[in-house]
Amino acid sequence: MPLDNIEPFDEHRKSKAEDLRMRVKLAFRALRKKHYLAEQNFLCCRTCATAAMQLSCSQHAHHAAKSGEPPKVGFVYYTADDENYLHANLMVHVSWHGQADEVRAALEAEGLSVDWDGADATRMLVKIPIIH
Ligand SMILES: [Zn+2]
Repeated sequence: MPLDNIEPFDEHRKSKAEDLRMRVKLAFRALRKKHYLAEQNFLCCRTCATAAMQLSCSQHAHHAAKSGEPPKVGFVYYTADDENYLHANLMVHVSWHGQADEVRAALEAEGLSVDWDGADATRMLVKIPIIH
């Protein structure tokens, strides 16, 4: 392999991004089982995504009232903007609504580190911890 080839670095970065996406996917799957709506790479921006999630939750509540299914307790997502940020920075801002402890625990259960200031309106910054 030629020494001036930057491919290995790019490949390494790409696989790190994929690892992060996969772990977030598993965390979101666990949250779906706890009756959250969860979407990765969801719509263009937070304005559209939050509106869509809120609409979806209320539609589901209407349906659930009739069918006896448990209603949605919250939602988690990150947008296409966040997806681009993820690939550039190897971290992702997760928007959430519901029980912060539950959301955080699901992410940490996949070995992710979560930076969050404790405010309801603040997204959680999620990344794979660097192990030295
Ligand atoms: Zn938008």
